[in-house]
Amino acid sequence: MEQRSYPTCDKCGNRVCAAFNMKTEEKPNIEEAPPFCPMKLHADVIEGALYEYDKEDIREFARLASIQEFECYEQTPNGLRTKIPRVEETLQFAQKNGYRRLGLAFCVGLANEARTLALILERKGFEVVSVCCKAGAIPKERIGLKPEEKIMGPKMYESMCNPITQAGILNEEKVDLAILLGLCVGHDTLFIKYCQVPMTVIGVKDRVFGHNPLAALYLSTSYYSRLRARAKE
Ligand code: SF4
Repeated sequence: MEQRSYPTCDKCGNRVCAAFNMKTEEKPNIEEAPPFCPMKLHADVIEGALYEYDKEDIREFARLASIQEFECYEQTPNGLRTKIPRVEETLQFAQKNGYRRLGLAFCVGLANEARTLALILERKGFEVVSVCCKAGAIPKERIGLKPEEKIMGPKMYESMCNPITQAGILNEEKVDLAILLGLCVGHDTLFIKYCQVPMTVIGVKDRVFGHNPLAALYLSTSYYSRLRARAKE
């Protein structure tokens, strides 16, 4: 097996950590993990993380998250089945935590989805504070974009996406949980960097695949095989 000096779980053949196939009540034997396993390369980090889980609030949050995960499945005579879509999973998790005020940071391109999600959440008793990515109406030139880099053309006014403002407003509104819906790659990164309240993601933007970016992976051995081509040196 190729020796790696950094973790590459994606290349693991046996997933000792998950113990899915072992059908045992014993804790997995880490020695059976590959040499690039983070359990071997970063045992200290794993140990350190346990101290974090020992903090009362973190432990409770993690416990409720795992209960929520558990409740997304059901045992049937035909085996394990899934039963809860992510929208429901999100609102159930918010209910478990006793959250009342939710924040919704959405992309203007998903305004319809934001309206529907807010309606669903409000009908379940939550208060929804929502902020569109264009809040601020700041021209793109403010962050250095050139006229030819504007989507609608060089002469058109275009507001920049403003994820730092979205995060700042949700922080200031003291929402219990921020929900990110469809922000662009990079804009989502900034939102996550500046968001100071607990946050989760309900959807990510994919302009081609109906906001299901994994479709590109499923088609990467056929119509989107260009994705698998090696980058030129
Ligand atoms: S943690 Fe170790 S055993 Fe688990 S997937 Fe990663 S490399 Fe494999």
